[in-house]
Amino acid sequence: MTRIFVASRNAKKLQEMDRILRAHLPAVEIVGLDDVEFYDEPVEDAPTFAGNALLKARAGFTATGLPTVADDSGLCVDALNGMPGVLSARWSGPPKSDARNNELLLAQLADVPDERRGAHFVCAVAFVYADAEGAERSVVVEGRMDGRVLREVRGSGGFGYDVLFVADDRPGLTTAELTVEDKDAISHRGKALREIAPQVAELLG
Ligand code: IMP
Repeated sequence: MTRIFVASRNAKKLQEMDRILRAHLPAVEIVGLDDVEFYDEPVEDAPTFAGNALLKARAGFTATGLPTVADDSGLCVDALNGMPGVLSARWSGPPKSDARNNELLLAQLADVPDERRGAHFVCAVAFVYADAEGAERSVVVEGRMDGRVLREVRGSGGFGYDVLFVADDRPGLTTAELTVEDKDAISHRGKALREIAPQVAELLG
């Protein structure tokens, strides 16, 4: 069975990636960071989601020799000119904390009226593999989920900013209140992974 490596430390995000990839790549064995030898993960210092996803996938491919999938994602808030964007995971500084990130975002948007609370999630997924000649190749795709930021946290599912985000496709519930299947069906990550999965299958032959 062909193996692919999914390079992510975020356990919740990894669950989503694993679930969606397995559904679309039944003939592929997915291995995670715990299944490979330790390697130094790269600093995510690219200015774009696609750039960071590629950094992570290239590092994983170089370290393991396995075809590697990695994602980079975040929340872009209209009233903050697209921030936190690529800084989403560490918006409130170290150590990384979803709860502090959410508190900070709520404080920053305290004076922003409902009609200006639009936001969207972006997920870039990169796949790095070796072609028939052994040369490194890559594919990157992006998915997006539009919605808005609430004034208080709600729900216990998902991760990150899910407790504050209501998607246009599921008004009335935060993405932390959706079933996992429902979130996958509309999410930035679900869209990107469903787009790249057939390409991965074809490239792996
Ligand atoms: P990354 O590991 O650099 O891609 O960090 C992504 C960060 O963006 C996460 O730590 C969350 O704060 C946020 N994020 C990305 N995707 C989601 C999602 O599906 N729900 C909620 N927050 C997300």
